[in-house]
Amino acid sequence: MTRKTCSGCDRPIAVCICSALVHVQAPCEVVILQHPSEQKQPLATVPLLEKCLGNLTVMVGEDFTQHPVAHRFTGQDPSVRVIYPSEGGINWDVSRLIAARPSAERNQSAEVTLDGIQTENSENFTQIKTLIFIDGTWRKAKKIWLLNAWLHSLKTVALDNMPPTRYQIRSSTVEGGASTLEAVVTALNVLAFNQSAESDAAYNHKEFDQLLKPFERMIALQIEKMGEAVFKAHYSSALSE
Ligand SMILES: [Zn+2]
Repeated sequence: MTRKTCSGCDRPIAVCICSALVHVQAPCEVVILQHPSEQKQPLATVPLLEKCLGNLTVMVGEDFTQHPVAHRFTGQDPSVRVIYPSEGGINWDVSRLIAARPSAERNQSAEVTLDGIQTENSENFTQIKTLIFIDGTWRKAKKIWLLNAWLHSLKTVALDNMPPTRYQIRSSTVEGGASTLEAVVTALNVLAFNQSAESDAAYNHKEFDQLLKPFERMIALQIEKMGEAVFKAHYSSALSE
């Protein structure tokens, strides 16, 4: 049996989200290493990013060691961040880094970094040109991390104090329960806002929240489809957390 899919959003006609699609250009290159099992997930979030986000490359697999991507990012390239919580990584305190604050204060904090006062968590946002994400359940993401030793020499970033996830209908991929799309949105918000603190580009701290629109539409349609009662019975705990 073949289900009819919408040619615009590639989703079944009954849950078409074309009206919610947006087109946004990422401020840096975004690379997603996607576990093959994610490809079969009807509620996967990476396909939404593929429809909505420019400057995105998605690669499917587990071991990318022989892949050109591994050779491209080999070594300690300072312009690359792997968004994955690992020991010795950098913490981006999201609640602090995307808090709208006066430009004078932001410039001041930039100077502190330029003065060379490096704390364990200090970050040089202006040098970042590429963000790498791993897309999979927590366990699958960890498997990709372990199989790809080339990732280990790159700087890693943990997203601390992310906004609460809206991914109520699937157990998740990133620690803390957020979807890959939400992690991308958060990281791009942090990066663009903190890069513009120095270059004065016109990014606000929620610039990439527009990518949440198709995501929220997808979830709303799914809840509608499964019925409110079923949803509450199975997923209400996720909402109250
Ligand atoms: Zn559609």
